[in-house]
Amino acid sequence: MIQDVLKQLGIEDKNLGTSTGSNWFGSGEEISSFSPVNGEYIASVNTTTQEDYNKVISTAEKAFKEWRMVPAPKRGEIVRQFGNRLRELKEPLGKLVSYEMGKSLQEGYGEVQEMIDICDFAVGLSRQLYGFTIHSERPGHRMYDQYHPLGIVGIISAFNFPVAVWSWNTALAWVCGDVCIWKPSEKVPLCSIACQKIIADIFKENNVPEGVSCLINGDYRVGEFMSMDNRIPLISATGSTRMGKIVAAKVAERLGRSLLELGGNNAIIVTPDADIKMTVIGAVFGAVGTCGQRCTSTRRLIIHDSIYDKVKDALVAAYGQLKIGNPLDEKNHVGPLIDHDAVKMYNEALEKAKSEGGNILVEGGILDGDGYEGGCYVKPAIVEAKNEFEIVQHETFAPILYLIKYSGDVENAIELQNGVVQGLSSAIMTSNLREAEKFLSQAGSDCGIANVNIGTSGAEIGGAFGGEKETGGGRESGSDAWKIYMRRQTNTINYTTELHLAHGIKFDI
Ligand code: NAD
Repeated sequence: MIQDVLKQLGIEDKNLGTSTGSNWFGSGEEISSFSPVNGEYIASVNTTTQEDYNKVISTAEKAFKEWRMVPAPKRGEIVRQFGNRLRELKEPLGKLVSYEMGKSLQEGYGEVQEMIDICDFAVGLSRQLYGFTIHSERPGHRMYDQYHPLGIVGIISAFNFPVAVWSWNTALAWVCGDVCIWKPSEKVPLCSIACQKIIADIFKENNVPEGVSCLINGDYRVGEFMSMDNRIPLISATGSTRMGKIVAAKVAERLGRSLLELGGNNAIIVTPDADIKMTVIGAVFGAVGTCGQRCTSTRRLIIHDSIYDKVKDALVAAYGQLKIGNPLDEKNHVGPLIDHDAVKMYNEALEKAKSEGGNILVEGGILDGDGYEGGCYVKPAIVEAKNEFEIVQHETFAPILYLIKYSGDVENAIELQNGVVQGLSSAIMTSNLREAEKFLSQAGSDCGIANVNIGTSGAEIGGAFGGEKETGGGRESGSDAWKIYMRRQTNTINYTTELHLAHGIKFDI
């Protein structure tokens, strides 16, 4: 199956690195991609060496000089064509995402749909890159601000969204007039090659210089080439908080700009007025979707003591219905974890939860029998816990859901929800307007995303996406997130025959 998928995406050689000689594949050591679905080898890619990297930078710098002069709506037209090509290739690309990363086929298609949606958004945006006009204090003067392209945008992405995160950044950056260099996760290199092939074809058809989209491959060492490079004014980094702290320090040292999208520890508050059916669907999807490997996965449920047992029983019953297995089989709800290291972390987290006094409600465990051979399958687990447990304070990138009880007012639940170092996504399930509004007020959730009567997981591309505190503070995707990809300039024009100094200062000579 996978060979057909690769063929449809134009990836036919096993060793892509040496066969193309193109600037987006490196000449360094080989990294192999194995599927978490069955452990099978898919293909290998060569990493980018420092020498390769310098060539990529020169190509990107050259391309930027040309691309920034293309009118924004014309750049938008290229992005429109890219979105249309993604529509045509949604099936094979979605399958590759599912097979290489391990998320369910529906989620693989959903990820490609997000790419299509952000392209549509970016096409409209290409005609809306606006600034303000401001009344000047000086007579006969006009003042305004405008936005110009920034230059090279360096994109470092995580394994769990192998294609969408790149497109959130690139679709906006391209209409803004920037060029992009992408370092994807070394765990999913083929998805990045498929994307690069698609955009390279579109660029060729439109005579766009190839350096507008560059791909470099490898692990953190290749990421470091970019974070330390002052030829890259903006680094957009998605991944763990551990990585974000290192990248942020390196970029700050050279006074560059960083857009950080890091780990979450997302909670749903369930109040006495919650609709239990909606709560259970939202919580289960949030906790087990993508096998708990979304930055917005639901990790904590903060439940009022008056309905605690009812919610707990409904959740345990729902977990009993979950089908775990090959993500390409649409009957399965839960696929594998990304690799054996992730399985180890999952096991260690459950052990730690037990040692801190957690009560295992739904037993986890590794699945390695019939139908699971070679894969990284685990059972989603539920643990009754306390918010202050050390393990609960950490993001474990696996399907472990902690149930936490609260009593009294919703303020107590909000305090628990905010009582972690991360600040990505949050939700409240309630039919009580007062509780919902408190949750959304300035004294409410401290997260970048706060939802009412939907879960924490997933977001529409129209809104700005990102989180506070150790989630990094960045915003990507919709709303006015485009501004980070541009430099701002204030212009004052004097259309009189006299030079007026600001603030009434006289300077006679
Ligand atoms: P990771 O931090 O291990 O790796 C992410 C990327 O950073 C990879 O490309 C990796 O090679 C690179 N990298 C690692 N160390 C680096 C360094 N020192 N310098 C430069 N680059 C470096 O994360 P992961 O395991 O791939 O992904 C899971 C994490 O990503 C979770 O914490 C999850 O919450 C987070 N995530 C956040 C968002 C968001 O939007 N907030 C989205 C997706 C994933």
